Amino acid sequence: MPNPSDDIKARLNIVDVIGEYIKLQPAGSNFKAKCPFHQEKTPSLMVSPDKQIWHCFGCGRGGDIFAFIMEMEGLGFPEALRLLASKAGVELKNYQGQDNSRRNRLLDLLGAAATFYHEQLLKDNPLAKSAHHYLTAERGLSPDIIDEWQLGWSPNEWQSLEQSMKRLGYTDNEMLLAGLINQTSEGQRFYDRFRGRIMFPWHDVSGNIIGFSARILPQLDDGQAGKYINSPQTMLYDKSRHVFGLWLARGAIKEAQEAVIVEGQMDCLTAHQYGFKNVVATSGTALTEEHLKLLKRYTSNIVLAFDMDQAGVLAADRAIAIGGQANLNIRVLHLPNGKDPDEFIRHHATDWPEVVSQARSIMDYYYELLKPRLLSEKIEERKTATARFLKMISQLASVVERDYWLKELAKTLHLEVQLLYDDLAKLEKPQSSLASDAPLNSLSQIKPADLLLAWLIKFPNLLESLSEELEPDFFSDPRAGQFYKNLIVYYNKNRQIDGQTIDYPEFISWLKANAGELSNQLMAYIDSLFLLVDKDLAEATLEESLGEISRLAKVIKRAFWQQRLAIISHKIAELEKSRELSEQKRDLEINMLLGEAEDLSQKLRALDN
Ligand SMILES: [Zn+2]
Repeated sequence: MPNPSDDIKARLNIVDVIGEYIKLQPAGSNFKAKCPFHQEKTPSLMVSPDKQIWHCFGCGRGGDIFAFIMEMEGLGFPEALRLLASKAGVELKNYQGQDNSRRNRLLDLLGAAATFYHEQLLKDNPLAKSAHHYLTAERGLSPDIIDEWQLGWSPNEWQSLEQSMKRLGYTDNEMLLAGLINQTSEGQRFYDRFRGRIMFPWHDVSGNIIGFSARILPQLDDGQAGKYINSPQTMLYDKSRHVFGLWLARGAIKEAQEAVIVEGQMDCLTAHQYGFKNVVATSGTALTEEHLKLLKRYTSNIVLAFDMDQAGVLAADRAIAIGGQANLNIRVLHLPNGKDPDEFIRHHATDWPEVVSQARSIMDYYYELLKPRLLSEKIEERKTATARFLKMISQLASVVERDYWLKELAKTLHLEVQLLYDDLAKLEKPQSSLASDAPLNSLSQIKPADLLLAWLIKFPNLLESLSEELEPDFFSDPRAGQFYKNLIVYYNKNRQIDGQTIDYPEFISWLKANAGELSNQLMAYIDSLFLLVDKDLAEATLEESLGEISRLAKVIKRAFWQQRLAIISHKIAELEKSRELSEQKRDLEINMLLGEAEDLSQKLRALDN
């Protein structure tokens, strides 16, 4: 029986899998992209179709398709396996023990529940018909949309879902964990959480159902229960982290390089029905940093189509704070006559693209909102409004933008702009975790050891002379030393590779067969070196390599010897303080260390000549 992960890898192309999330540009025989896992302006993530691996030279992440999906979707291995298996058309049921994670079991249960609710909606009984009528006649949804999004109806009974899922082999405990049923306070009995409601399933980005929003059927609304109820927070579902509709919208969002966020799921469904597929909904929760983080995987351009009441203003506040730091370009869409998107699209669908394109920058919007208070007669009001706007400015990442808004503000307040600059400087810049994902500049620079090893992959016969003078221990990164050691052995056993670039698959299979247990970190590191060759050394010549190798070897030796020197001087200092040894013995040891230090100093001096 083949290993499922190998089977899946054989059927999927890494370029297609990663290309679903980020825009890949061809670069020689490889592809390049801006890394979705750290912030960067120039692409440093490479994808190799030959090797079926990826690596980011900015943040160091990399691996195979599973590593990418796990990182991208925040999944564990079993869940990533499930996701990619369905993409590859590989049946996991045949593989014992692979598909038994609790999470996967709950996903199956929620999928079965959605199917149950959907079938109920299409049944021929009065309440189901009313529910169907509400969706189609009152809200104008088409049968296709109802089908595609698996909208449903939960019968107005206590145990219809529970009984039906039990027949499929699910336990009450699983249904509780999935948020589908409740337990009576005595704990004796279980009953369906959703009764007499129209069901809107929530999907994760790969299309698994993870929870539900449920609207009470208007004719059953006695004002006692909420109009909308949602799944409780479960191990699968968290309203503040999921965006409604993203599973179907993400392709269009990437394509359009723009995401429109609406408040209600009905707004979202209507938009999709009319072909505006880059629309998602937060559905009854305030916009969170997690929401924006999720969307930022696909685009940096966000349009907020929120009703700008008090809650909307707060959302704007937050969006500026998060967006400014994360370099998101957030705009605010104001629909004419205070219409909501659902209503607007149904009556003026053809105008939608136009109004979206006219959305104003969020700073613009916010400024207009604050302007009356900035111009107020009351000094207190003016002061707080100014402080609030200054805080917004302080959160902008772009210096140009900051400068622009400070000047605008100064104009409005009839103040010297320098005064505002001083105030701004006093404001501490709050940190957002979105922004702190960005690596330090030094991280994005390639280490001398990595570059040297890449040169050796490209021109392995340089190892002949280098291995005499550069020892594996000289590398401060143990992975580099380990790879270097193995490379020497490999080279010596395979002289026929003389002069030719090391072949990746051959080297890897040799390594697996000969080098014993290999850590994932080491494998990922080796992958990154091979990609570095493709990235930077594809056109390099042997002549260039000679100068580079000797320069890099010097850098590595110097660092190693300097470190040795530091250790020795530390040891000497310790010995001088120590009272444990006799004076004679101490002097002997110190003298030996001094001899070693002198040796190292000579070597270091020789490097400079
Ligand atoms: Zn990265």
